[in-house]
Amino acid sequence: MDSERPPYATACSVDDFRRNLEAARARIAAACMRAGRDPSGVRLLPVSKTVPEARLRLAYAAGCRELGENKVQEAQGKAEAMADLTDLRWSVIGHLQTNKAKHVARFASEFQALDSLRVAAALDRHLQAEGRALDVFVQVNASGEASKFGLAPEDVAGFVRELPAFASLRVRGLMTLALMSSDPDRVRPCFALLRGLRQRLRQEAPDGIGMDALSMGMSGDFELAVEEGATVVRIGQAIFGARALPDSHYWPEPGRGSEGG
Ligand SMILES: *Cc1c(COP(=O)(O)O)cnc(C)c1O
Repeated sequence: MDSERPPYATACSVDDFRRNLEAARARIAAACMRAGRDPSGVRLLPVSKTVPEARLRLAYAAGCRELGENKVQEAQGKAEAMADLTDLRWSVIGHLQTNKAKHVARFASEFQALDSLRVAAALDRHLQAEGRALDVFVQVNASGEASKFGLAPEDVAGFVRELPAFASLRVRGLMTLALMSSDPDRVRPCFALLRGLRQRLRQEAPDGIGMDALSMGMSGDFELAVEEGATVVRIGQAIFGARALPDSHYWPEPGRGSEGG
């Protein structure tokens, strides 16, 4: 799979971004073909963490109208610096600490890593104060790795039952990070698990709680995710270029005091 691809080159021009976006869309379309799906049912969310503002403006010029960021402070700084691009939307896709909820409530249009009722309550309170609403995804730990955030699959149904209490949260579906592995036989079951969970929750979820969206798949595994039903793929390096920092910087072990957000 990904091990056979050359390292991701840094996109430094509008043309580079056009080419990378087009290539990613073509790979999504091919995966859809294999799975008998309509490519219009898959949303490509470009993930721009660590990428400086100047290059984000190139991505915007190439057509990006939404960007995903893992850390709140970085996302908010960029959102403020680029507030002149009024149709650019920000999606926060990384773990959130309760004390940062007020920032997310202010600038984000979407939060994909909801995994605690405390965070849900804090977001809802600040959203009410701002007169805003937020699309949210419930993050599930589908790989069983201790280093991942997200709810255990068996805890999701009970969690979702509590969410109607938070009127400003528009629940759209589920999000996960698969096992980090180049072996598709180990990665695919993580995606299949999320799809199975959605199937069950569609029957059980309370009124007003959406369960259509599945956010899964990154640069190294998005084609597998699309084959397994992803409706949102979060793609960073294949669009912007390789990151200098290792993935462990973004997915530290919970409880070690170096949480993102
Ligand atoms: C960084 C990140 C991605 C994208 O990873 P790439 O390897 O750059 O495609 C997807 N999801 C989350 C939660 C991330 O933090």
